[in-house]
Amino acid sequence: MLDDLVALDKRHLIHPVVSWRGHEARGVRILTSGKGAYVTDAAGATLIDAFSGLWCVNAGYGQASIVDAVQRQLTEIPYATNYFHYGNEPAIRLAKRLSELAPGNLNRVFFTLGGSDAIDTAIRVIRYYFNVTGRPKKKHMIAFQRGFHGSSSLGSGLTALKNFHDDFDSPTPLQHHIASPYPYRNPVGQDPEHIIAVSVQALKDKVAEIGGENVAALFAEPVQGSGGVLVPPDGWFKAMRDAARDLDILFLADEVITGFGRTGPMFGSEYDGVVPDLMTLAKGLTSAYQPMGALMVSDEMYAAIADGSPSDRAIGHGFTYSGHPASAAAGFEAIRLYTEGGLLANGQKIAPRFAQGLTGLLDHPLVGDVRVRGLLAAVELVTDKKERTKPHANLQISQHLARLSYEKRVIFRAFSDDMAGFAPPLCCSEEDIDTIIRRFRSVLDELLEVREIRMAA
Ligand code: PMP
Repeated sequence: MLDDLVALDKRHLIHPVVSWRGHEARGVRILTSGKGAYVTDAAGATLIDAFSGLWCVNAGYGQASIVDAVQRQLTEIPYATNYFHYGNEPAIRLAKRLSELAPGNLNRVFFTLGGSDAIDTAIRVIRYYFNVTGRPKKKHMIAFQRGFHGSSSLGSGLTALKNFHDDFDSPTPLQHHIASPYPYRNPVGQDPEHIIAVSVQALKDKVAEIGGENVAALFAEPVQGSGGVLVPPDGWFKAMRDAARDLDILFLADEVITGFGRTGPMFGSEYDGVVPDLMTLAKGLTSAYQPMGALMVSDEMYAAIADGSPSDRAIGHGFTYSGHPASAAAGFEAIRLYTEGGLLANGQKIAPRFAQGLTGLLDHPLVGDVRVRGLLAAVELVTDKKERTKPHANLQISQHLARLSYEKRVIFRAFSDDMAGFAPPLCCSEEDIDTIIRRFRSVLDELLEVREIRMAA
């Protein structure tokens, strides 16, 4: 049965973000059930999921109240469009709840199916905004190198990871990138104030190069996720927000990963006291029990678009599943679990133990850097700690990590051949956190048993 599925998968299912031939050679690992922080696969192995699926199952697996909320909604009415002037109760209530929780006056919500289409919605809304408010030249958008803003046709150009651009004719000439802070490998040094000043200057220089009158927006993650969990110095996000305001460009906080308690507060922006002009959400919004994302915009931006747009024109943007009632029901209940259910508080409680455990790995010969904020972290591997030498590609660290992750029964994400990313569910106990750290340390120890890696280290 399992062999059949693996064969069928190879024959018919195209997986995201793999080499297609590489996937055929490796095959699929099918997960079949989950409870709390643990998942079980089709072969019967149970692993602790230190990555919450794809940094999305923030509430953990088996949350019966989310399942019940979805089931109730599907039974009552499985679909009620948000198109035109129709609507449904869960979407309206969720929009209100998000407005209560979001920073500042981000009080208007457009629902999407995930993060990529939230980013694409933002790109369209920003263009529309400047067109209807009489500044049609403002079209260029800036994001950070190593940033991730999804996979949509336009958003993938703001993403700055090589394999999202190569052979995709991306980015477009209206999309630009500036260096992101990466203290461990930052040629500008380790001083936080200097790193912040360099980022602000890079933005100013880029805007000057394009011409301020042509620049629409800056897209930024409070902590860059897919680029390697690059935790910026405290105050960096605020400095970028303020610089964007000074330069008369919009500031979008991409909170697809950092939202919903991932870095401590409900939203990553709050860490630095930032109120963005726009905010994108997904993943933890429903704890991935249903697909859903959202774009939130400020009251001012909403009003400018509403008043600037011809009153007889229906603004042509929407998805069949915008505000899907079952997804909205899942979102509302997930948020109830984060707040009244105490998950956000639990995440904050276990975060110091997580940070302490990971930092403790710095004594390992292969660990060069540990970056952590809240329950979001990366461990960067090196073969020479003093020289901060990246492991040579020949060592195939990612492949070994994938194998060992399975053997040691701990799921994390192997990035770009020298990093492991962590994003455990907020429901973890301190024992779960200890299990993650212990198992990951044994992954590292086993890595050292690989002859070529031991020789290189
Ligand atoms: N923005 C960020 C910051 C992300 O991390 C992701 C996904 N990892 C996206 C956007 C895209 O979200 P989705 O995969 O739901 O389309």
